[in-house]
Amino acid sequence: MKLFIDSERKKASILLIYTGGTIGMKMDPADMALKPFDFSQILAEVPELGKFAYRIDSFVSEKIIDSSDVEPSLWQSLALLIEEKYDDYDGFVILHGTDTMAYSASALSFMLDKLSKPVIFTGSQLPIGVARTDGKENLISSVEIAAAKDDDGHALVPEVCICFDNMLMRGNRTTKVNSDNFRAFRSENYPLLAEAGIHIKYNRANIRYPDDPECKVKAMPLLDTRVSVLKIHPGITPQVVRNILCGEETRAVIMETYGSGNAPSKEWFLDIVREAIAMDKILVNVTQCLAGTVDMDLYATGKKLKDAGVIGCRDITVESALAKLFHLMGNYESNDEVRQMLDMNLRGEISK
Ligand code: ASP
Repeated sequence: MKLFIDSERKKASILLIYTGGTIGMKMDPADMALKPFDFSQILAEVPELGKFAYRIDSFVSEKIIDSSDVEPSLWQSLALLIEEKYDDYDGFVILHGTDTMAYSASALSFMLDKLSKPVIFTGSQLPIGVARTDGKENLISSVEIAAAKDDDGHALVPEVCICFDNMLMRGNRTTKVNSDNFRAFRSENYPLLAEAGIHIKYNRANIRYPDDPECKVKAMPLLDTRVSVLKIHPGITPQVVRNILCGEETRAVIMETYGSGNAPSKEWFLDIVREAIAMDKILVNVTQCLAGTVDMDLYATGKKLKDAGVIGCRDITVESALAKLFHLMGNYESNDEVRQMLDMNLRGEISK
């Protein structure tokens, strides 16, 4: 990774971290192909950033990637980088592809303990080098939000967020919902943290603040990735369910269920669920619905899952459930401890 330092000392300091994705692309006139641009020239590409009285340094990942290639190792290096540079900056903006941005933002939210400064993910649907790009606006709003402080000099949004299409969302509440519209992300189960119009309107009652506004972040890079996701669907077979729930390599399975947490009530299905739980697998219940919550007491089918030992993860997103499991399993050896922690609201990822 390379660090480019903006020599001027100004009011606020922001570290812009470039990992890849559409936002950093520009048309190469030689062959008219979209290619990553030289990120050390970001101020030349987006001169509007120069109008802020901020010092903006940039940091470029060793490998610029399409976010479909994101691996947990990227999350680990981002968490450690933020920990290392924490005292030098007021906020961090991460430029990232949109495809897996909700996973990365969720992961970072768990991996950054005692966060008191903004970590804002953003990207774009159109490359920054294209006339109608949404990238410039997304980037400019993200930088302004990352630098925003209250009258006491504390960050207005000390959270891991996604800023996209004038909306600031809690990172671990977001899902990518549209592949070609500028409104690519939604946070259905939690209100916006801020909205950018003529002014940026902060919804402070929705923002999480640490008990100590000056606490220092601690990176928690340990992850255990032995998680599978099983999407329940009509016609699912016992072979498929058994392969996933009882797979040797799997420590936990996210069951993407119907509605408020329902799954087939057939005996063979429940037998496999019980078999997996007898093998000490961590089975969690997350709804396939974009909005709403798992309530396994509502219907008999959900109740059977609960009785078998499946953990209801309330209104968490699948992206966030995956990140939470990676994080908890990386930090706790006992599956019972992981099950207990799943029910706790660690970073605002679930509602009470
Ligand atoms: N495939 C791209 C990525 O996620 C899409 C984007 O950036 O919007 O890296």
